[in-house]
Amino acid sequence: MAVWAADIGGTNIKLAIVDRGRILRMREIAAIPADGLRRAMDRIAPVWLELCEQTGIAQCDITAIGLAIPAIVAPESGKIWAVPGGKFADAPKFKLAAWIDKKFSKPAYWCNDAHAALAGELKYGVARGAKNVGMITMGTGVGTAVVMQGKALTGTHGLAGNAGGHNTLDAGGGPCGCGNIGCVEMHASSWALPAQAANSPLFSQSALAAEAAITYEAVFRLAGKGDLLARQLRAHALKIWAITATTLIHNYDPDLLVLGGKIAQCADVIVPYMHKFIRAHCWAKWNVPIRPAALGNEAGIKGIAYLATKDAKRSR
Ligand SMILES: [Zn+2]
Repeated sequence: MAVWAADIGGTNIKLAIVDRGRILRMREIAAIPADGLRRAMDRIAPVWLELCEQTGIAQCDITAIGLAIPAIVAPESGKIWAVPGGKFADAPKFKLAAWIDKKFSKPAYWCNDAHAALAGELKYGVARGAKNVGMITMGTGVGTAVVMQGKALTGTHGLAGNAGGHNTLDAGGGPCGCGNIGCVEMHASSWALPAQAANSPLFSQSALAAEAAITYEAVFRLAGKGDLLARQLRAHALKIWAITATTLIHNYDPDLLVLGGKIAQCADVIVPYMHKFIRAHCWAKWNVPIRPAALGNEAGIKGIAYLATKDAKRSR
């Protein structure tokens, strides 16, 4: 039951051979989203073959292929309707099924990356047994996914529950890559952070200016040491993510909220803040548990591998 799995992010692509929830071997390569999905697949294929060599698994023993893609993916046909602005821009026209069939001739399944991460947490992680779950993935962008009555909420085209990172927060906000204005992820996501920091008048006096990369890991670390700009950026991001959590509760009434993506590593600060914000501002007057993804950064790859073993059809 070994599966070739790929979790395609905005910064890196995780590639693995997964067997019944166990990652036998994993590699990360750069995503280079401006190059498009076809070129990404051309770079993914040889790495999967290398992983086979390293694990001693024959190619013919790979039973399916699973791809988690940062895109709006139709639940039945697998049609890719929309991608984040400028990233993997060829994806809606790229004939992914034909490419996989020609290259590997194996059953394949692909879906939105946040859906894959939530599927991983439902099967193996913190959401096991939950019926109604909302997930926020905080990484390069901000993704959301929702399961209701035990089933992934998709709507007709795959958009339902997925666009929490693209809810408008300010009507006067600038254009987002998705076409909307003033979106959540323009305010608090890893792609938006470096410009926010650099444009602040506090930047030159901040320890962030000396960091090799401006990440939320650095922001939370330096905020803990009292850096003024880091504290401002952290406070802003916490508020944005808490608003996103509140919106998910208002819209979907989940039993559980799960936080995934790299930034969820700062859950010790984020979760208490969210609870406080939700108590103060959410219509729901009951406690909604909030937990970091138990599978951490591996939720997407384990989730898509599980979905591939369950749902892969050669025709997709
Ligand atoms: Zn947007």
